[in-house]
Amino acid sequence: MKTSEAFSITQGLAALADPDLADIRRSACKAVEAAHEESPRVFCHVFHEPGFICIAQDFEELDDPFQLGILLHEFGHLATESEKENHADAWVRETLGIPLEYRETLEWVPIEEVQESYRRLVP
Ligand SMILES: [Zn+2]
Ligand SMILES: [Zn+2]
Repeated sequence: MKTSEAFSITQGLAALADPDLADIRRSACKAVEAAHEESPRVFCHVFHEPGFICIAQDFEELDDPFQLGILLHEFGHLATESEKENHADAWVRETLGIPLEYRETLEWVPIEEVQESYRRLVP
């Protein structure tokens, strides 16, 4: 899906759990492109510009379950104000109730469960 669509779905979910996350915006930056070049499994970062999730161009090529899993994980970092991967993942699993897993070393979520949660959130 479009990066903008994945962002709006995941932000809708994240803001349900933590209304402060409704103000988070997305950005593109040279640093995240460089990080992706160096380490192809890196598609996003947070804690660069306050209030933003920076997203690499190639993110848009990922399949939907990876796009949603990665962004939910990034919202987890912001919600927990922690750089630790297990804190971000625990927030997705426990606070959002979405069974995040890792496939091919990337965050992955079952799309049906995300869509179902989103429909509950946005009638
Ligand atoms: Zn950045
Ligand atoms: Zn992370």
